[in-house]
Parts: sequence; C-alpha cells; structure tokens
Amino acid sequence: MAYLKKQYRELIERIDNELKIPRGWYFFVKKEQEKQNFIVKTKGKCTCKNCNMEFETDKKINEYEKCPKCHNTYLIKQSNYSFHIFEKVLVLVDKLDDRLVIRLFEIFTRYTKNKIYHSKPAEYGRIIIDSKKKEKIEFANDRAVGTIWGELYIDHTNKGEKWRLYNKNYKSLNTYGKVYDKNLQEIFKDTEYKYSQLWEIAKRNDMIDIEYHLLNNFPSTELLAKMGLYKLARCSGDFNKGKSFKERFGVDKSYYEFMKKNNIDRSELNILKIYPKTNIENIRLLNQFYIYDLEKVKKYVSLEKFAEYVKKKRKFDIQMYIDYLGFLENLKMDLKNKRYLFPENLKEKHDEYSKQIRIKDNEKIDKAINKRYKQLKNNTYSNKKYIVMPADSFISLEDESTQQNHCIRNYAEKYAKGKCDIYFMREINTPNKSLVTIEVRDKKIVQSRIKNNEIPNNSQKRFLNKWENEILNAA
Ligand SMILES: [Zn+2]
Repeated sequence: MAYLKKQYRELIERIDNELKIPRGWYFFVKKEQEKQNFIVKTKGKCTCKNCNMEFETDKKINEYEKCPKCHNTYLIKQSNYSFHIFEKVLVLVDKLDDRLVIRLFEIFTRYTKNKIYHSKPAEYGRIIIDSKKKEKIEFANDRAVGTIWGELYIDHTNKGEKWRLYNKNYKSLNTYGKVYDKNLQEIFKDTEYKYSQLWEIAKRNDMIDIEYHLLNNFPSTELLAKMGLYKLARCSGDFNKGKSFKERFGVDKSYYEFMKKNNIDRSELNILKIYPKTNIENIRLLNQFYIYDLEKVKKYVSLEKFAEYVKKKRKFDIQMYIDYLGFLENLKMDLKNKRYLFPENLKEKHDEYSKQIRIKDNEKIDKAINKRYKQLKNNTYSNKKYIVMPADSFISLEDESTQQNHCIRNYAEKYAKGKCDIYFMREINTPNKSLVTIEVRDKKIVQSRIKNNEIPNNSQKRFLNKWENEILNAA
C-alpha cells in the first residue's frame, strides 16, 4: 500500500479489520448470480437454464418470462445463443465511527452454450462519506483498471490488496448497482437517514445510486417510498419541489393509484405527462421513443392512435414517420384521413411523397429561372462562330451540367434567386451542344468553364471579352 498517505492507509486497514461482511450477504450474492441467466426456446419449448425446468409459453424470443419453478425472470433466447457476459455492481453499505462506507463489488457470469461460470464478488472500490460535511473520499484497488476510453474495467485476477486514492479529476466511481438492504435500517438508526426508507427503496429496485441518496438525503425520498413509488424514488431529487401533487409530479392526483399500481419510472411519468391515459401498455410502448419526437408526432395525430399504429409494426422508424407527416402537410394532403396518416407501407409512401416534393420544388425553381431568363435575354449575343445566351430553364441547367461534368446543378437555386446569372456559350452551328458555362455577377464574368472544369481557349476568351464589354457593361 505504498500509494497511500498514512491516514488513508489506516482507514483502509480499519475497514478490512473492523467491518465484517454480514451473514446475509452470501445469500444475496447467490440470488444476484442466479439472475444472470437465460431461458432458451426451441421449437416452442422453453428451458430455464438456471433450474432446467421445461415449460411452454406464448412469449417470443427476446421477451422476458418468469420461470414457473425458480420464479426468476429471464430473457428468452434462441437455443443456438452461445455466448454472453453478465456484469453487475453489488453495493454494501457500512458504518465506521460516524462515517458511512460504500463498498463496491463486481460479479460477472460467463454464459456459454454448455456451461455457466459465476465469478466471486470482487471488491474494487470504497467510498467514505462524511454526511455532515457532504464530503467523500474515493479509493480504488488494483482490480479497478481504467481503459483509455475512460471506462472502468474490473480485473478479477488481481488480489485487490493494493489501494490508491481514486483520481477524482478524471472520473468518479459509479455507485449505481444492486444494494444489499438487510443491514441498512440498523446502520441508519441514529443518523440523519433514519426516516429515509432507503432500505425499502434498495430492496424493491434492481439498481440504485446509493451515493446520490447519501450525499443529498432529499426529504422526498421518504415520501416517495411511503407512497409506494419506488422507481420514482430512485431520482427523488427530481420530486423534491412543489406543494401539491400536480406541482410535484406534473400530473393530476387522480393518476396516483395508476402510478403506484404500475410502479412507474421517471421516463414513463414523462410519457404520462404528454399522454394522460391510464394505459400502461401504451405508455411502455411510447417509452421507446424520445419525448421530443413524440411531441412532433402529437402535432399531427393523437398519441393514442399513434400507439395503435406502432403496435402493428415489427420495427418502427419514428424519424421516417415524422418526415412523412411533414410531406403530407407540404403536399396539402388531408391530415384527417387515416389512409394518409397511417399508411400500410410507410417506407413506400415516404419515398413516393418525397419524390413528389422534389418535383414540386424543382417546378418552383424552374418558374423562377424562366423569369430570370426573360430579364436577361437581351444580353444574348452572337458572331459568326459563337452565341452566348442566358440559361432558360431548370432542365437546360441540368443538361448543361451533365454534358460538362460540372456541379452547376447547385447554381440553379442561386440563379433562380438572382444571386448570380448563368449563361451558356455555344457554337452557332451546334446550339444544343455545351461549350462554355459562364457565371456573371455585377455585370462581370466571374467564372467561365469548358468541359471538366477547364478554361476556354483564346478564341473563346476573345469572344467573351467582347461580349462583356459591349453588352454586359452597356446594359
Ligand atoms: Zn427456473
């Protein structure tokens, strides 16, 4: 432990010597290890890989199901699913004098087709909290290895005996994990946390951030736990303000029973705010999208109908749908007609209308270009060999750029808006064949290009100079 100052070294040694792992911890670890598994489905038959129970279910691959024998809930995988690593942080809270100690352990399970390996819990971090000063000291040992990406990797092969101060400027230790709850009430007995109900919140949540609660000790934590809103209690600081129910949660009090019954979480509550219906199935369905996107959709269709529409689709691309709704508006389609709002084949209709809009936009540009042509057509000029004339349509510009390998297509809009003038110079005998493309600004030629962006020859230049002097400048 050469890394640590004496006072810190003593702290670590005291934790090693004085703080005992509680008896229930081993059972707790075993339960958490058990959760790291799958149910495997073959030809309609399910097997729980934890207890080998065989049973039947309507649930599909990648859905969750509860095993009827061991009562654990697992993700269903195909029988050929062959490799997975589960990792989880386990958190043990203890007390040293009047300071709280958060101890971080990691367990992992290596799942292969024929074998399951459960690691032992490996302690890698300790955080000592002085709740009066709202201060913390963080320690990590040689198992905690930082990657170049700034992530923490736990190396279970190290012994975890070499402790160091954790580099705070770099990153804090993350305490988000499953908290051992059986000792909490006893530990908090004579502290400011004695009413916090954190033991209930730890018990009823798969993961919480205990450091957040210990450093802040929000009064709303107790309130939310007593209201049975255990998932909202995970971020109790967000509900610490407001006198009335409505002020605190952003929804009417009549939704309380619904919120409690479904133990809704923070993001489900956000959905409930914009979709105030007691329909948990739809709320969870809508929860796969960003609020920001749902608000865009809501301008056109009710979220109720939107949810029904999404339900029928296997995969749903909300960005494409938002684009699509914009197209309907742009094309002045009937926004009350279900046939338009909820197309059977979204991709097909999206592409079709997108093309229609492109054509419509081109028509607009084309009209403007025609107008420009009329303004400029008096600048048309010719001699025995050459003629120069303004571009007269969108199509002629497209044609010019194709023939010349230019990117003049981009100029069409500028030309239409009058930001520049575009002329074509051609041989008088072959007026449909591109020769020189000319850009004019303020009666001056700013660019003249022949095919593949090369410069015109001397004879062509002489003609253009004459045109510039005699016609453009005279105009
Ligand atoms: Zn089972």
